[in-house]
Amino acid sequence: MIKENLSNIYKELPSDVKLVAVSKFHPASAIVEAYQAGQRIFGENRPQEMEKKVKELSMPGPDGTVACPDIEWHFIGHLQTNKLKMVLPYASLVQSVDSLHLLQEINKWGKDNGKVIDVLIEMHIAGEDTKQGFFEEEALEIFFCADKYKNVRFRGLMGMASHVDDEELICADFTRIGEFFDYVRDVFPEELPAFDQLSIGMSGDWPIAVRAGSTMVRIGTAIFGEREY
Ligand SMILES: *Cc1c(COP(=O)(O)O)cnc(C)c1O
Repeated sequence: MIKENLSNIYKELPSDVKLVAVSKFHPASAIVEAYQAGQRIFGENRPQEMEKKVKELSMPGPDGTVACPDIEWHFIGHLQTNKLKMVLPYASLVQSVDSLHLLQEINKWGKDNGKVIDVLIEMHIAGEDTKQGFFEEEALEIFFCADKYKNVRFRGLMGMASHVDDEELICADFTRIGEFFDYVRDVFPEELPAFDQLSIGMSGDWPIAVRAGSTMVRIGTAIFGEREY
C-alpha cells in the first residue's frame, strides 16, 4: 500500500521536486516500508517522536547495524526552544521556524555545538488566524540581518495553504508565497546564497503547489493513510 502510494506520487512529481514523506503519528515500521520503496526524506512534527524514530532507524541497534542508514530527517512542526536538543542534532532541515525567538535560539544552539543549522522560514500565507508563521515584512527584516545568524543557513520558505476545498484560494496562497520567494532571491543574492527551497504542497494540494513553483512537497496521508491521533 505504502509502496504503491509512493510510486503513484513519484510518477506524477517532477524529478526536480523533492518529496518529504510526513511520517508523524505513524510507526517506525511504516517508515521502513517507505524506505524500502526508495523514499529517503522523512518529516516529523513532534520532537520526542522524531528523536525516538531517529534512534530506532538511523542509529546502530544492539547488533551494531543501522536499519535505514541514509534517511534525511526534516522537522516540520512547532518547535519549542526547550526541545532543541531532541531535534537539532538529527534534523538536516528545520522547515518550521515560525518565530524570531526560535530563530535566535537555533542560532545559539548552533554556535554552542559548532554546527550550522539549515532552516526554512515558515510564512503565514493562509487567510486563517490559526496558521503560524511570519508575515512578509517580518521575514524581510530577518533577511536584512541575515549575517547576524552565523550558525543558521537560510535555505528558503515553507508555507501551508488555507485549509479549504477552493482550488483558486489555495492557488492564490501558493502563488503569493512563490512570488515572495522569487523576490527574496532577487533582493538578497549574496546575503542568502543557499536560498533555493520552497516547501509548499501537502496531500490535498501538492499538484497546485508544484504549478506554483514548489521545490519540496510534504506528503503524509496520501502515502501512509489517515493518522490516528
Ligand atoms: C502533517 C503535515 C503535513 C502532511 O499533511 P498531509 O495532509 O497528511 O499530507 C505537511 N506539512 C506539515 C507542516 C504538517 O504538519
